[in-house]
Amino acid sequence: MPTHCPECGWKYQREPGYFLGSIYFNYGVTAFLVTATYVPLFFVWEIPSRVLMPIMLAFCVLFPLWFFRYARALWMAWDYLADPPTSGDSTPSAGVTAHQPDAPTRK
Ligand SMILES: [Zn+2]
Repeated sequence: MPTHCPECGWKYQREPGYFLGSIYFNYGVTAFLVTATYVPLFFVWEIPSRVLMPIMLAFCVLFPLWFFRYARALWMAWDYLADPPTSGDSTPSAGVTAHQPDAPTRK
């Protein structure tokens, strides 16, 4: 994963262990999807649990592996809303200087 956005220089990882919070999003979305799928399949269509369980278990293992990058994006959006960056961290100028105007040089 790149450390900064190539367009604006946004620093993705604000501190060590920053993306630990994305696990909550990953787990929450996975649990919601499994529950929202299992309940109607079991109670409405009456598919036996011995058929549903292996499918749901495989989903619980594979889906978070695919979804982790989106969970990170959700975490960054949440963090941006809850704790906006100050001038000391994660400013667009923190990593990339390509879009900044040239500073005057001394001779
Ligand atoms: Zn950007």
